[in-house]
Amino acid sequence: MGLDYEYRILDLLELGRPANDVGAMLTEARSAGYAAMNITHPCKQLVLDLVDELDTDAANLRAVNLVVFDGDRLVGYNTDWMGYRDGLIAGLPNASLDRVVQIGCGGAGAATAYALLSVGAQRLDLFDADAVRADELALRMRARFTEATIGTLASDELPEAIAVATGVVHATPLGMLHHPGVAFDVGLLAERAWVSDVVYRPLETELIREAAQRGHPVLDGGRMAVGQACASLRIITGLEPDRDRMQRHFRDLISAEVDSRMRRGGR
Ligand code: NAD
Repeated sequence: MGLDYEYRILDLLELGRPANDVGAMLTEARSAGYAAMNITHPCKQLVLDLVDELDTDAANLRAVNLVVFDGDRLVGYNTDWMGYRDGLIAGLPNASLDRVVQIGCGGAGAATAYALLSVGAQRLDLFDADAVRADELALRMRARFTEATIGTLASDELPEAIAVATGVVHATPLGMLHHPGVAFDVGLLAERAWVSDVVYRPLETELIREAAQRGHPVLDGGRMAVGQACASLRIITGLEPDRDRMQRHFRDLISAEVDSRMRRGGR
């Protein structure tokens, strides 16, 4: 894009700093001349109390993954949900949102639920192995999206809900390299139902592969990851990045990383 910017990774583990140091790190970064900081696990909630201004969606989601330095003020945003929303629109443009089932209600699941409801999902049924998490997310989403029907599912209700869903979102760590498996029986899906996975290491999870083989439209986790980066770049610079180019670059990076981990024995 011809921008003279630098993007550096500050890894708490490598730096030997506790998550609670994130406030000090924000101050240091601002003094060092940075324009912004992306924030990830385990600091997305800690930052909520440190910013001077919170974007409404970040406040609703109770999670910040971008802090922009606006003079002396710290402004917090959440671009995870925007990333999922933009990826969904670009990657599954004809997806019916009439009746969506979501499995997994943690950090990624909060962002996908928020995005689905923001783009007009009429009915969203949430399931999590930890029922309290599904209940809490449903409560928060009902308070924000009063028009939609937002339910929770017990494990014995999941198969039936999947069978009548127009789409299923998977937002648990299952399918990651060191966490193989599929969270539900793909054979239960209705004929035209779409499937979306948030996992992106690897991009082709067992779920994505199996669903695609059965002819279901699929959306892998790469779209969300790139989408949140695009939204961050847009907020920081005011410029629209080339999403397709970022997508290609991201795919090359992830493939190389996954190949190298497989060669090292799945670590
Ligand atoms: P998290 O720990 O906050 O939430 C995971 C949730 O899944 C938990 O509530 C847990 O109880 C539930 N769960 C686990 N196994 C389950 C199962 N078999 N059935 C039902 N529920 C189950 O984790 P997270 O931060 O939400 O991350 C989840 C995945 O999303 C990770 O693989 C992460 O890499 C990925 N992720 C992707 C993106 C992206 O941009 N694509 C962004 C964030 C996270």
